[in-house]
Amino acid sequence: MTIEADQRTLEADLSAQRPLLWINPERGRSGFGPGAGAGEPLDEHDFTAACAAWVRMQGLFRALFPEAVGAPGIASPLDPLAPAMLPATLDAEGAGRVFVKRDDQLAVAGSIKARGGFFEVVSHAFAIACEAGLLHPEQPYEALLDAPVRAFLATRRLMVASTGNLGLSVGLIGRALGFAVEVHMSRDAKAWKKARLRAAGARVIEHASDYISAVHAAAAEAASDPASHFVDDERSTALFLGYAAAAPELVRQLGESGVALEAGDPLMVHVPCGIGGAPGGIAFGLSCLLGAQVHAFFAEPVAAPCMLAQLLVPAAKEGAQERLRSVYDYGLDGRTEADGLAVTQASRLVAGLMRPRLAGLYTVRDERLLAHVARLWHGAGMRLEPSAVAGLEGPGRLVTDPAAQGWRAALGGKAVLARATHVVWATGGSLVPEATFSAWLDAGADAG
Ligand SMILES: *Cc1c(COP(=O)(O)O)cnc(C)c1O
Repeated sequence: MTIEADQRTLEADLSAQRPLLWINPERGRSGFGPGAGAGEPLDEHDFTAACAAWVRMQGLFRALFPEAVGAPGIASPLDPLAPAMLPATLDAEGAGRVFVKRDDQLAVAGSIKARGGFFEVVSHAFAIACEAGLLHPEQPYEALLDAPVRAFLATRRLMVASTGNLGLSVGLIGRALGFAVEVHMSRDAKAWKKARLRAAGARVIEHASDYISAVHAAAAEAASDPASHFVDDERSTALFLGYAAAAPELVRQLGESGVALEAGDPLMVHVPCGIGGAPGGIAFGLSCLLGAQVHAFFAEPVAAPCMLAQLLVPAAKEGAQERLRSVYDYGLDGRTEADGLAVTQASRLVAGLMRPRLAGLYTVRDERLLAHVARLWHGAGMRLEPSAVAGLEGPGRLVTDPAAQGWRAALGGKAVLARATHVVWATGGSLVPEATFSAWLDAGADAG
């Protein structure tokens, strides 16, 4: 098949909401690691500095939330996953070892958004306190707790748009530091997330529109107030670097679990993708540390594959002036039970950084997500939300999907795949109320 014919088939599958697997033809074309793409907005130094800052922030998190945040700080366990917990299509023997990265267990915010959201809000608070002459850059982050600094932060506003989890993360850390917080919620946001934010003292503005429209509404509001800061999910490098700082945590845990990355065996990482910041940051951070050895795959719902829609635009055509692709261009509505992934248009920043790095992407039906939620709960006691389980499809698909045949051959075939380590990034779920969770379990049991 020619590349054009391949692309037409992919686009037809995308429009028809048929689950598909796409291998990124641009991966590795210009090497790996920072600078892999021309004129990149972030480099290895940004990544290294973010990792160090994230470590230094942990004392502040423990001080702000002494009951919720223990010795490990804002970090999550890496658990082995029994082969029986994977979708039945998988020949478990052939897939190598599978782990789950439990970001559902992240303290306070209960999702991967604790990484990016906390990192950006603390970085911003520290920067404005330094600008105001209240702190010096060499002071520890705990100095944000000093009374004069808190009084200053209480005069400043934070704004963010969210389908739910980013709002929870920014809202909870922002309020804890003393900021006034306004969260613009898209149509996808669940009532309990709004209630939780209001209880923390955040103002919740409800929009009947999709997520991208809520982002633009929040941006417009923030632009009119110089004492405010907008946490920009489309453009923020701070959010992105907060997610990237998860990379050393994972590499250390793999070592502790006996995975000998030094032997050169491949690491496959499967991360659910919404606008792209969380999975993109993780893929970027891991590629800084491991280069070609890590193969990052994103998972998107069949109704909201916004990153795939953008990456299918040839790089040559993706100028800064070009309009971003949207899932609406494919006749899709972006509606999914996976609210964290209900995004119609990807981040341009992240799409650009992923072109030379991402290994591939696959799409998943909602019924499958619900079935995974039910299976992981009944079989492994893991309480995950539908957005959090999309990556569970990956290990099996990489072994069996005909669309990955060329990729498997290039990797070295079955023998190499069998030595691979897979990390399925479980991105959230521990805060979900009982009634919502049991409704998913019922739906998941029906789905099979
Ligand atoms: C936000 C979110 C994602 C995806 O992150 P993006 O930065 O939007 O791509 C995945 N899972 C959960 C649970 C989320 O809340």
